[in-house]
Amino acid sequence: MSIAAPPISRLTNYINGQWAESGASEWRDVVNPATGEVLASVPLAAAADVNAAVEAAAAAFPEWRRTPPEDRIQPLFKLKMLLEEHIDEIARFITLENGKTFGEAKAEMRRAIENVEVACGIPMMMQGYNLEDVARGIDELMIRQPLGVAAAIVPFNFPGMIAFWYLPYAIATGNTFILKPSERVPLTMRYIYQLLEKTGLPKGVVSLINGGKAAVDALIDHPKVRAISFVGSTPVARYIYARSAEKGKRCQCQGGAKNHVIVLPDADMPMATQIIGDSAFGCAGQRCLAVSVAVTIGEAQRTFRDSIADAASKLRVGNGLEEGVQMGPVITPQSKERIESLIGVGEKQGARVLLDGRGAKIPKYESGNFVKPTILDDVPATSEITDTEIFGPVLSLVHAGDLDEALAFLERSAYGNQASLFTSSGSAARRFRYEAPAGNIGINIGVAAPMAYFPFSGWKNSFFGDLHGQGRDAIEFYTDKKVVVERWAKEHSRKF
Ligand code: NAD
Repeated sequence: MSIAAPPISRLTNYINGQWAESGASEWRDVVNPATGEVLASVPLAAAADVNAAVEAAAAAFPEWRRTPPEDRIQPLFKLKMLLEEHIDEIARFITLENGKTFGEAKAEMRRAIENVEVACGIPMMMQGYNLEDVARGIDELMIRQPLGVAAAIVPFNFPGMIAFWYLPYAIATGNTFILKPSERVPLTMRYIYQLLEKTGLPKGVVSLINGGKAAVDALIDHPKVRAISFVGSTPVARYIYARSAEKGKRCQCQGGAKNHVIVLPDADMPMATQIIGDSAFGCAGQRCLAVSVAVTIGEAQRTFRDSIADAASKLRVGNGLEEGVQMGPVITPQSKERIESLIGVGEKQGARVLLDGRGAKIPKYESGNFVKPTILDDVPATSEITDTEIFGPVLSLVHAGDLDEALAFLERSAYGNQASLFTSSGSAARRFRYEAPAGNIGINIGVAAPMAYFPFSGWKNSFFGDLHGQGRDAIEFYTDKKVVVERWAKEHSRKF
């Protein structure tokens, strides 16, 4: 795998089927987090760029909407093949700009492709329902119609996958779609849009706008944008939800997380260690479903602590494009600083640093933002570190007397993205599934990421809205229901 950076370029937007120079006055460097090299320069879009994209998307909508669903999914079949063919190139861009390992980047793209596959079922999934003779001679039917222009704003941690929770469903249901990727990782979607260009989609059906807050505000405020999807941190999710509601828009906003796993003493400890280790330290802890706090019960306090500390200390940290590297850097120097300072806060508030990843030095990569796996033991159940999303490779260990106490601890969390349990007891598992206060539940699973045909759920401050991304929720989100009640005179039908 080549680890040379691509030549630096000034990124453009994709509007009306063409790559267009941005009119932005402000630009920002896209930086490789493993090396500190500048990869490209990204515009922080001007409102005029957003306006051009929305107008092109609005102009493309009437014809796209009239295109039969069976024809609308043909470009998605092509896209699936192109993504498969180019998965290595895409994964390389993901690793270059995000830092995760090449293997993690490829795994991310598998989940993206899965969403394209599911959206190819739209001719079935988009169907409504009907009933004859709701009154004598009167029939009633419900049909689904696309909304118009839909937009999605996505975060840095999955540069390839998260856009696919939205794009395939939005266009297959007949909407036109605008994506605003994270300004920290815009290269992956640029490459994917180059593939989208080859699928035969009519111009204006998909657009790409690079930018930051100003671009997001312009999208929300534009009267021709009907629906907003967002994934990112909780404060921004809350802001976008409120602003979209004020403008009368349909909106779904996924926010931050603080995910818990409960380890019972009857768990298969080697399996639990491997899976929880992958969850806590995979993608350098920058997954929205990463386990952040492990609550151990009884004897698991000692057995799990010893085994996870041993496994985490052996993880090979480095440039994700190098063979054998198991964990990459965090996204920015500011992020590294914040994570290290939160470890310090944990220590001050009574936690014992069992494994200390601060001040990591990786040979050849002195300018990289590396934090090695860190484990904080005996973390007080109420402390800043148990409430704050760290978004780095830090696992806190909290101990509880029994499952009641552990569940009460989860209940107090402000977030509800994911909760997991490791056990061999069916009744404990059932109780957990029933009571755990989170939208994505794992039983002996560390990253309970729903497959594309299930909604990517999330509760409390991890989600604002009601319809989630993926699966049937996506069809509901991207369509309006229309109910038709019909009566035809008997005399008229007799003529035929
Ligand atoms: P972020 O909130 O900083 O940015 C997300 C997007 O919002 C980016 O496109 C960014 O340009 C835009 N943005 C940033 N500030 C804005 C503002 N003030 N107004 C309008 N738009 C703004 O998030 P991030 O750092 O890119 O991603 C990490 C966060 O995303 C973590 O909190 C993580 O838990 C969360 N996340 C959640 C899920 C989920 O499914 N719940 C999935 C992935 C990531």
